[in-house]
Amino acid sequence: MKIKRNILLNPGPSTTTDSVKMAQVVPDICPREKEFAGMMKGLREDFVKIVHGKEDYTAVLFCGSGTINMDICLNSLLPANKKILVVNNGAYSTRAAEICEYYGLPFIDLKFPIDELPDLGVVEKTLKENPDIALVYTTHNETGTGILNPIKEIGALAHEHNAIFVVDTTSSYAMRPINVYEDNIDFCMASAQKGIMAMTGLSFIVGKKSIIEESKNYPKRSYYCNLYLQYEFFEKTGEMHFTPPVQTIYATRQALDEYFKEGEAKKWARHTRVFEAIHKGLAELGFKNVIKREWQTGLVVSAIYPDDPNWDFEKVHDYCYERGFTIYPGKISTTNTFRLCALGAIDEKDIQDFFKVFKKALEHTGVTVPVIYKD
Ligand SMILES: *Cc1c(COP(=O)(O)O)cnc(C)c1O
Repeated sequence: MKIKRNILLNPGPSTTTDSVKMAQVVPDICPREKEFAGMMKGLREDFVKIVHGKEDYTAVLFCGSGTINMDICLNSLLPANKKILVVNNGAYSTRAAEICEYYGLPFIDLKFPIDELPDLGVVEKTLKENPDIALVYTTHNETGTGILNPIKEIGALAHEHNAIFVVDTTSSYAMRPINVYEDNIDFCMASAQKGIMAMTGLSFIVGKKSIIEESKNYPKRSYYCNLYLQYEFFEKTGEMHFTPPVQTIYATRQALDEYFKEGEAKKWARHTRVFEAIHKGLAELGFKNVIKREWQTGLVVSAIYPDDPNWDFEKVHDYCYERGFTIYPGKISTTNTFRLCALGAIDEKDIQDFFKVFKKALEHTGVTVPVIYKD
């Protein structure tokens, strides 16, 4: 079977290999069979291995998109009469604050500008003044802008103040190397369609077993999205409590085999090549960055709309889309931006091909090249 190859430059789902796509086509199976449980066990072990966790860490799998992990960690890991601190400099941490609000959880939304790193002095001061903070939360690669947050430092502060540290690593996991011990992470998370380069529908949390076991006695705020309940079911039966995304799990198995075959360092080097090629292409066309280069994670480039009356993101998008390339709007409320992302099964050559089409799209829509800015 020949499948059209699209280059996705959006922040996930990512471009997948044909072997991962085809791995979904399997004989029908009831996921309660031993064969299937065996595959889930391998997945759980591999998810821990990717972030270099040992026996004190485990992975708990869920059926849902990446946001389900955020929901689960926040609602399941807060003891009674305690507070959450969200270190917030972007759209994804804002989503975490919204989750706290929906559950009615006590939380502090510690906001920083979206194009700046969080001020660690302010984080420390907040922890000192609020000894009831039991959970510190932030986003590793803030996908809305591509800024890299100092998780190791925030994690150390959380631990000094007896709080656990939960990090949304959805858009960095299995791309930029993570080590749960060195990065002071108690819980991190991702879903299969991003760094793993598989399909949507499977999300997972990697975290400290001892904390999950302790959380058995924490207030129960959700049924479907409770971390301990799912963990306990996995430990007893090797299965998800409710129906798993069967075909996505087959694709994930194949994607993990390809991940380990490529290797952590080589994969990160490939994403870096793609990222550099994106920067080179944008710079040649005169585009400006939102985030200082040295603060970028190396996976998402946020570019500012040019001040050209002919610039029309939708038109440029449609021109590229028709030719197999997907670009994506930004997630910043104050500035008009678009994003080009370096995840997925793509390489430098795909970016060079993209920029030929992108340049034509600009010319086709009457945008002056190199692009112009008022200041
Ligand atoms: C993609 C992403 C998520 C999850 O988004 P879904 O649309 O629910 O898959 C969460 N956090 C970050 C940082 C992400 O990049």
